[in-house]
Amino acid sequence: MARFRLELLPWLAVTFLATWFAPRLGVEWPIGFLGGLLVVAVAAILGEVGRARATEARPETFDSRPADGVVPVVPLDGALGTVNAARPGLLAFRSIASVPPISLRLRSRVEGRPLKGRIGVFSVFVGRDRASWDDREIAEAYDSLERMGRWLEREAGRWSIALNVELIGTYFVADDPLEAEEVEIANALDPFETILDEADSDVKGIASASRAAAQLGFADLAALIDEVDPRVDHDATLWIIHLLRSGRSSAITADLFDYPGVGVALCYARESACSGPLAGLPYVDPVTLAHEMLHLFGAKDKYGTALKSFPADSVSSRDVMRLSRSRLGQLRVDPLTASEIGWLDGGDRRPEMKKTRHRP
Ligand SMILES: [Zn+2]
Repeated sequence: MARFRLELLPWLAVTFLATWFAPRLGVEWPIGFLGGLLVVAVAAILGEVGRARATEARPETFDSRPADGVVPVVPLDGALGTVNAARPGLLAFRSIASVPPISLRLRSRVEGRPLKGRIGVFSVFVGRDRASWDDREIAEAYDSLERMGRWLEREAGRWSIALNVELIGTYFVADDPLEAEEVEIANALDPFETILDEADSDVKGIASASRAAAQLGFADLAALIDEVDPRVDHDATLWIIHLLRSGRSSAITADLFDYPGVGVALCYARESACSGPLAGLPYVDPVTLAHEMLHLFGAKDKYGTALKSFPADSVSSRDVMRLSRSRLGQLRVDPLTASEIGWLDGGDRRPEMKKTRHRP
């Protein structure tokens, strides 16, 4: 109300002056009064239009195509590589031509932005413990990435969010030459469940990927991302590090990596509480990929606590951050997770959520 009065004052002055001056210019005062009102009305309309334009032009700079459920594999400009024997559409990176980057934007930033627009997913496959990723395993990992992308687009469609996931078809594959590494186990003092976690396992995972990046001629993982990331023109890019070990997958937080804001997720070839050599065949789980991807865009874990501890109808057992179903098709993005990844700003477009009983 106070603001309205303040804005009204100058306009009252304009109308008063027009009324007062009119007889001195040989015009009847009611004409001056109406003229003053007309000026006020025109100014108000112009102001409103300007404000509406400013709101429109503000943040929505990302691709607004609706999710189409198709996850294409797109090329990396200027990259030379070896064709994947199991899936010829994929290319193992060997070198990159010194053409200028096509995107002049600084490196893609994930932190603090909603999961919307055209998202590019890079993959780095890191061999370990004298084992290397082979072409077939990499092709299968891409199948999992596609399933993750299609699921994300399906969920985005349910929430009326414009999201299109694309996989960068040139991947990075190298072995970390480190032979052994002392594994320190830290026992997290959780009152409900004992979680074994490796001390700074994220730092070690990044270090492993950096040693692999060095095999490809980059100083470290950050240098690889710095060189390659600007060569695609997506609204945001994610880097998924597939480690050929067992371990606990995680989304890398900005404070652990000297590359703040870039979305990097460590995904182990088998989930286990502490990292170690892989026994058996690798399996890139699309549920893990989707879960870590949402972490990168701000989603928080919702397991380890009772459903009723969340606000009514905000989280169900099917939420992807709850991880109580093992198949991606059974999982979804519930309202609390949707709000964390910036899918709720429309407010009224939320899909129907089955009513569940909650104790008060
Ligand atoms: Zn998690």
